[in-house]
Amino acid sequence: MDQAQRLLQRIGTYGERMIEAQRELVAVPSLGPTNGGEGEGEKAAIFERWLKELGLETEHEDAPDERVPGGVRPNLWGVMPGGDGPPVWVLGHLDVVPEGDRSLWSSDPWELKVDGDLIYGRGVMDDHAALVSSYFALQALQDEGIAPAGPVGLIAVSDEETGSAYGLEHLLKKRPELFSPDDLILVPDAGEPDGSFIEVAEKSMLWLKVTVQGKQVHGSTPHKGVNALYAAAKMMVATRELAQGFGAADPLFDPMVSTCEPTRKEAGVSNINTVPGRDVFYVDCRILPGITLEEVLAVFTERFEAIAAREGATVELEVVNRMQAAPATDPQSPVVQALTRGVKRVRGLEPKVGGVGGGTVAAFFRKAGLPVAVWYSCEPSVHQPDEFARISSMIADAQVMALIYAGLA
Ligand SMILES: [Zn+2]
Repeated sequence: MDQAQRLLQRIGTYGERMIEAQRELVAVPSLGPTNGGEGEGEKAAIFERWLKELGLETEHEDAPDERVPGGVRPNLWGVMPGGDGPPVWVLGHLDVVPEGDRSLWSSDPWELKVDGDLIYGRGVMDDHAALVSSYFALQALQDEGIAPAGPVGLIAVSDEETGSAYGLEHLLKKRPELFSPDDLILVPDAGEPDGSFIEVAEKSMLWLKVTVQGKQVHGSTPHKGVNALYAAAKMMVATRELAQGFGAADPLFDPMVSTCEPTRKEAGVSNINTVPGRDVFYVDCRILPGITLEEVLAVFTERFEAIAAREGATVELEVVNRMQAAPATDPQSPVVQALTRGVKRVRGLEPKVGGVGGGTVAAFFRKAGLPVAVWYSCEPSVHQPDEFARISSMIADAQVMALIYAGLA
């Protein structure tokens, strides 16, 4: 049997151990203080113990945060030395989101439930599956006596769910020398259930609140007032047209174009026979990389002001949320190529390489000029009640990672 086959077979025997690892993690509600929790310290201690059991030395770059017991948000890693191949890094996050409405769960979110191939509990998918798969992939190399092709570093960060200021952003600020553009960096935190999607790019996000001011009058005399709803409706219609101006179609994305959609609408007048003098709605823009959000905001402001002026109304645009996308990772970069080959071998399918409409933690690597692939076998259970993960998928993902660690992908 060749080395790759030995690794795949070995990992195939880890199901029970992966379940026990998940059971240990699920029992710790590692909510960040913004979500009313005590932080990631306890879960970090578990992951650190695992790394030490593999014989790795661990390092920390914790972020001070007075809101949690212990006063820090942990960011830690351990590196297994290897050959002279490029370093491989896999980054998972320690924090989880709150349970939400408890009545929607069919079991205790903080106690692992196993049902055939499925395991349930808060965090099992997001992001314990990443921590467990990346860990057992390394365990397999050790059990099979196979040296990594280059150093392999497993990283666990805090604060992914509430902005990453105490997590990856902090780590990159304090320890930029850890990473180089030649490294293979993998963030298992999004993907498709069968592992068929590798994310290399994201769109920028801009959320706008639009307040239109007119003049309220009786419904029988609209000519005496200024109908704010009518002006707002014209602006809503204009949003899709404006979206077409933000970049040429990019086949990395689905959809390939920038999108600007009117979404939320605040209640206006409650009776039918009043012409509304004020209307408030919101627009969710997902903009292709390369277009600045200043430009988008300027275009919206100009067009909406023109519409308002024609109707005799005024309009105010407020930015509710904005996130400028980082430059895309080259689909030809080594980490994407290695993943593509690994997924093909383990899953027997050709993964699609593309972009997503929202921001991920990988953006911090990309902003630092580091290529990074976001990938794992991700169920749509993330952040939901009855969050679940698949044991067979954790095994498959660990198999792909082990091939990459060993330079066999
Ligand atoms: Zn996540």
